Amino acid sequence: MSEVKFYYGDSVPLEMHKVRIVQKLNLVPIERRLEAINEAGNNTFLLKNCDVFMDMLTDSGVNAMSDKQLAAMMEADDSYAGSATFTKLEDKIKEIFGMKYFLPAHQGRACENILSQAYVKQGDIIPMNYHFTTTKAHITLNGGTIEEIIIDEGLKTTSNHPFKGNLDIAKLRGLINKHGAEKIAYVRLEAGTNLVGGQPISLDNMLEVRNVCDEFGIILVFDASLLADNLYFIKNREEKYKDMSIREITRIIADLSDIIYFSARKLGCARGGGICTNSHEVYMKLREYITLYEGFLTYGGMSVREIEALAVGLEETMDEDMINQGPQFISYMVEKLDKSGVPVITPPGGLGAHLNAMEFVDHIPQKQYPAGALASALYLISGVRGMERGTISEQRDADGNEHFANMELLRLAMPRRVFTLSQVNYAIDRIKWLYENRKLIGGLTFVDEPKMLRFFFGRLAPVSNWQSELVSKFKRDFGDSL
Ligand SMILES: *Cc1c(COP(=O)(O)O)cnc(C)c1O
Repeated sequence: MSEVKFYYGDSVPLEMHKVRIVQKLNLVPIERRLEAINEAGNNTFLLKNCDVFMDMLTDSGVNAMSDKQLAAMMEADDSYAGSATFTKLEDKIKEIFGMKYFLPAHQGRACENILSQAYVKQGDIIPMNYHFTTTKAHITLNGGTIEEIIIDEGLKTTSNHPFKGNLDIAKLRGLINKHGAEKIAYVRLEAGTNLVGGQPISLDNMLEVRNVCDEFGIILVFDASLLADNLYFIKNREEKYKDMSIREITRIIADLSDIIYFSARKLGCARGGGICTNSHEVYMKLREYITLYEGFLTYGGMSVREIEALAVGLEETMDEDMINQGPQFISYMVEKLDKSGVPVITPPGGLGAHLNAMEFVDHIPQKQYPAGALASALYLISGVRGMERGTISEQRDADGNEHFANMELLRLAMPRRVFTLSQVNYAIDRIKWLYENRKLIGGLTFVDEPKMLRFFFGRLAPVSNWQSELVSKFKRDFGDSL
């Protein structure tokens, strides 16, 4: 679909769906929000939904399902082994990815656990465009080291590079020369690089990576969790492929991958996940891990309802009108913020809008977690829940030293087909206000810090009374408004 032009005034993204089920939202007063964020240890993961107005924490498992997905869930064929529902999904994977084997898993990280256990040995190197939190954790746990070789442009916060998620081919060759191909467990490509702003990777870049892997006999693993956005961007930003269908582009990507895995909480707007391959050898190697960790081979930890919804969701991913809403809303939000001078990652990517906390609150030192502080402040003044993607999301090194993230981002995910444009406008309005009052925001410090994946459960406290000052300013400017 090309963007629909408006005759009077600016075009806005036009939804190609209608809403037939609604859920009431709460916008609690700022006094309650102040309590709530402190009850949550200033960690937005620990907020309760009843205190949240717009939940922009993630796009994982919270995208709106279609009528067809819900209908399919009603006809699920429940059985431990041999369910017809599973065969439906297997057939859909064969049709879309052209892959013979599909191993179901309960979500994306379960696939990562299995792939890391099967392929990563002590001392192995795993080059990738960029890591995802759970990916890195599983590889590290198995003794491997990740090497992030995203193009330099990928780490620039403002840019007009259409594919900031590309992998640097020269650096890949450098790593292979340095360590030898036998030390490389596999090369991993991540669609829509999650942690650097949902930035896509180009099809040409993927093809180049494939060539290098062929040259050295290295396996290529593709993390397709954020494939839907990436497909949209290839079609809309990569001139060469603009006349290809989403289905054709998907097939080229699948053909160049040895193994595809994904989180179905994102891809296919359902729940679950899985690993696809054309290789009998790979299938046999991974099969027993599925039965050990996930479940029998015809459900792998997913309910049959989820499997039905996923089969339909994958089919709907092939329809540009079904996958364009996220990227178009995100682009609307990013462009409005950018025009108002708010530091935001450009160009707009998939997944959500990403505020650049390093610049937004440049007075907060990195050891006081600028992105975490911004997440806390934004919730406080708006009820909008985002996710810290900065130093808190990293882990300390073996000696307990803080590992400062390359970027300090506040991610505001855009769950698909969930928010209206007026809600997005509300979020933009409050972010602009917060930017004008940014000097009032202060840092955070850990009061309870778990060793693994600390961003999920860690609790922090403000380093000063900055939150009450922010509340006072809000009351002066907004009066009795929520
Ligand atoms: C979410 C995500 C995962 C992990 O998937 P879960 O279903 O949350 O376990 C892996 N890779 C990427 C790129 C993701 O975005």
